[in-house]
Amino acid sequence: MSRIWVLGAGQLGQMLKHAGMPLNLDVQAIDIESQETLPLQAHEQVTAEREQWPDTVATRQLASHGAFVNLQTFPRLADRFSQKSIIDQLDLATAPWQLVDSNTSAEGLHEKLGERVLLKQRTGGYDGRGQHWLREPGRDAVPDGWHEMCIAEQAIDFDEEMSVVGMRTREGECFFYPLTLNLHVDGILLGSVAPLPRLGHLQEKAEQMLAKLMNHLDYVGVMAMECFRLGDTLLVNELAPRVHNSGHWTQAGANISQFEAHLRAVASLPLVQPTVKNTSVMVNLVGVDYQTTWLSVPGAEVYWYGKDVRPGRKVGHINFCLTSGGETKRALDQLQPLLPAMYGEVLDWLRSQLD
Ligand code: ATP
Ligand code: MG
Ligand code: MG
Repeated sequence: MSRIWVLGAGQLGQMLKHAGMPLNLDVQAIDIESQETLPLQAHEQVTAEREQWPDTVATRQLASHGAFVNLQTFPRLADRFSQKSIIDQLDLATAPWQLVDSNTSAEGLHEKLGERVLLKQRTGGYDGRGQHWLREPGRDAVPDGWHEMCIAEQAIDFDEEMSVVGMRTREGECFFYPLTLNLHVDGILLGSVAPLPRLGHLQEKAEQMLAKLMNHLDYVGVMAMECFRLGDTLLVNELAPRVHNSGHWTQAGANISQFEAHLRAVASLPLVQPTVKNTSVMVNLVGVDYQTTWLSVPGAEVYWYGKDVRPGRKVGHINFCLTSGGETKRALDQLQPLLPAMYGEVLDWLRSQLD
């Protein structure tokens, strides 16, 4: 049995482990705070569930292993400044942006980027954390301590948000899942749906963009590209060099999930174009307590991460891949009373995509 080490033991690491079992892969997801001496063997591969990590006993051992796949790519994408620079260098469309250096003023940012400007910390942000909207021209300021530490982006008045999850083998072959339509509320992904026939005409463009990035980085495994859609134009929002929340639906909706695809690529196992079943939906469970009643909803595939529940924290997700939009809508109707009232908006949005 081959062994693969994963830097990080959060839900993504756990789901990689889960996906490894039927592949006869021993996936070891390592908590970054672990003090253990890891019995790393030269022939074993290392991957990560996160793009950035502190220097700890565990991460030092993993990062110094000779077979850490994509090791050079992580810091380049974990810093929004270098990530956006790569996107520009490859001539891929993205929201106009600039580095906020020590001399940058809010006024200067408005002059260059317009009235609505979003500051994003260069590293460490997720679920919309580490972001700051500059709103009032002349009456706002870059927060203390953010100079040099953030980039500024023009606000994009997008039609909708979507992502494409792709994979690349060591030989450089790329495969992609169909575009996923995503709903973010206050910066947190709450729902996804894929595939949608009405987005089919954008698929090739999205694949070309992500292939260009993966080829440039000589990347191996699964990478996600989040986009804003404006008409038929796709702007890259951000990249994730790992399995991604907007690809969770593939656990239900494809014969090879994103977790399995990543492992196959990292372990140099045969990898082919995943076969996609019916339209899937995913509902993220954010800050809600576990309910066994979810299991009574026909078609529900519940993933609980076993984390402490805190407001705004992703603690699980539910996938559906049923045979028709009507059946999925009925399942969402049954799920609705089992979730907090604020989920009404998310479920309405999902149902509206299934018409
Ligand atoms: P994730 O959890 O996906 O890693 P994140 O914290 O890294 O999120 P982004 O994806 O950059 O942050 O932004 C979070 C959300 O904020 C986006 O999904 C989008 O809804 C909104 N957003 C980000 N950038 C812009 C922009 N330039 N204009 C308008 N909205 C934006
Ligand atoms: Mg992000
Ligand atoms: Mg994002």
